[in-house]
Amino acid sequence: MCLPLKIKIIMTFTPKRIKPEFLKTNKSQRALEMTYVKQQTLRSEATLSGIGLHTNVQVNMKLRPAESGHGVVFVRTDMPAGESKIHARWDNVITTNLCTQIANECGAKVGTIEHLMSALRGLGIDNASIEIDGPEVPAMDGSAMLFVSMIEQAGIVAQDEPRRLIRILRKVNVRDGEKSVTLKPEEACTFEGEIDFDHAIIGRQRLTTQLINGNFKHDIACARTFGFERDALWLRSQGLGLGASLDNVIVLNEHSILNNNGLRFHDEFIRHKLLDAIGDLYLAGGQILGRYSGERAGHEINNAALHELFSDPGNWEYTTLDNDSSHMSNAENKKYFELA
Ligand SMILES: [Zn+2]
Repeated sequence: MCLPLKIKIIMTFTPKRIKPEFLKTNKSQRALEMTYVKQQTLRSEATLSGIGLHTNVQVNMKLRPAESGHGVVFVRTDMPAGESKIHARWDNVITTNLCTQIANECGAKVGTIEHLMSALRGLGIDNASIEIDGPEVPAMDGSAMLFVSMIEQAGIVAQDEPRRLIRILRKVNVRDGEKSVTLKPEEACTFEGEIDFDHAIIGRQRLTTQLINGNFKHDIACARTFGFERDALWLRSQGLGLGASLDNVIVLNEHSILNNNGLRFHDEFIRHKLLDAIGDLYLAGGQILGRYSGERAGHEINNAALHELFSDPGNWEYTTLDNDSSHMSNAENKKYFELA
């Protein structure tokens, strides 16, 4: 998915490992967990511009704070008011072909939302209005790291309302040939994935992470998307990957990586797959309390897993984590959800 362009590295990251002592419960972590159970939004606006990976269209994007219960909502500022809002939800997904695209009933669309959604989930942003003047979220460097940076620069604030999580009550599995996604009950937010490519540099990779203690930022956020040089011509014939370059994609030929600086992690590929899954699953409309397991998974099966989850009310419930006595009933929570 690359053009024979001169290579320009726009940023070099040096991901840090979390020190084991940080994982121990201490005062600052307890403070973090207190914040964690409240809804959060941005402290101030954040802006960013860039080209879309598939459309190559230059867009300007602004993230704005939003009130409790608002959720994540995209606003196409180049479309008439009243037709421009698209809720970032699983049932608004219209395309999962190499990216996740959502649309509203008026036909307003926004594509390649998954890396931004992943950053919002990873940083615990529940409520945001995302104004965008074009059809696709900017690709930036092909990872979520620049979205993380812009959110952190804007600041994050806790809101008054408790966060509503989606607790998995029953195992749900969707399968398509060798692809599979399973959602299982667990009192944690766990993502695990496995990929197996017949390519010397990728091969079989497996990773499990929990979305606590900054793991997303340190282990997942800067993993870039990837593609194969052999697919570039076909992709472009389909009108895809028009903005792809060595600046925003890891490009592999039959034996090697074409990007000058190589990989950011030896297993950057599975890390990016989990980045995608975290973004795709955030379209549930809230954080999922449970375990995601993806085998050779992609956007299509991630979305299918959410359709399967929500197809039966017995598979899930809303919950809050402030304390046991504050848990609202499923019915009460669903009512709240519909009002939001
Ligand atoms: Zn991706």
